[in-house]
Amino acid sequence: MKIIDVHIHVGHRFEWTDRAKEVWMDTGPYVPEIFDKNERQLPQEYGDVIKREGVFGGILIPEYSPLTAGVMPFERALEIHKCHPEFIPIANLNPNYHADLMLEFENQLKNGAKGLKIHSIHGLFYANDRKLYPVYEKCQKEGLPVMFHAGTTLFKGAKMRYADPYTFDDVISDFPDMKIILCHGGRGFWYQIAEFMVKSYKNVYIDISGLPPKNLLGYFPSMRRFSHKYIFGSDFPGVPGILKNYEAIGKLLQDNDAMDLIGFKNAYELFGFWK
Ligand SMILES: [Zn+2]
Repeated sequence: MKIIDVHIHVGHRFEWTDRAKEVWMDTGPYVPEIFDKNERQLPQEYGDVIKREGVFGGILIPEYSPLTAGVMPFERALEIHKCHPEFIPIANLNPNYHADLMLEFENQLKNGAKGLKIHSIHGLFYANDRKLYPVYEKCQKEGLPVMFHAGTTLFKGAKMRYADPYTFDDVISDFPDMKIILCHGGRGFWYQIAEFMVKSYKNVYIDISGLPPKNLLGYFPSMRRFSHKYIFGSDFPGVPGILKNYEAIGKLLQDNDAMDLIGFKNAYELFGFWK
C-alpha cells in the first residue's frame, strides 16, 4: 500500500492562531511529536510521523492568513522538504497580504513551489478576485495544479461569503484547462455543488481531507463511480489518524481499484511531481 497525502499543513505551532490550535490542530494526536519545547516544527520528525502511517509523498501547504489561521510562511514547507524530498511545497498567495502577487508567486516557484493553494475564506478574499487572474493564467499555461479551500471553516474571523461556491465556478469556467482541486469538497453545505463540478468539468477534482470517512458516500453518492476524480488528503496535523482515515475509506468503498486511484494514482498523475 502506498499513499499520497495532498493536504499537509506546515508551520511552527506558535504561528497558528489559538482558535486554529483549539478546533483543528489539537484534535490530532501528533502535536507532542512534531514541535520542540519552543513550539517550533521539527522538520525531520514532521515527515517521519507522516511516513510512519504509510504515506509515500505529499503536498506541504503554507498559509498567509494573518487574521484567521496565522502566517505559516513558505519557508516552513521548504524546511520539511529538505529533510523529506517526497513532500513537495505548494505556493500560497493572499491578495490582502502580498502587495505584488505575481512577484511573490514567482519567488515561491523559484524556491521550489509546485502549484498553488488558495485559502479565500481564511484570507478574506474571493477566489475569483481579478487580481489573481494573471496568476491563474500562468498556472493554466504551465500545468500547475491549483488547490482551493472549498467549504466552511471553524476558525474565528473567517467570513462565509468568501467560500461562495459560485466564485470557484467562475474560475473553473474562466480557466477551463487549469487543474483544480476543491479541498474538502464543499464542506459544510455545498457538497452537492462540488460533486456536480467534479462530474461536469474534466479538470476539477475533490480532495477529501478534513471529512469524516464514514460520511463520504452520503456527501458524494457518485464517489465510487468517479473515483478517478477524488484524492486522498489528511489535513495533517489536525486529523485523528492518517492511516486510520485511509483504512476507514477503504472499508467504506470496498473497492481496491478505487482506493488505488484515490489514495495514490490520481495525485501521482495530477501533480506529477514524483515521476
Ligand atoms: Zn487544510
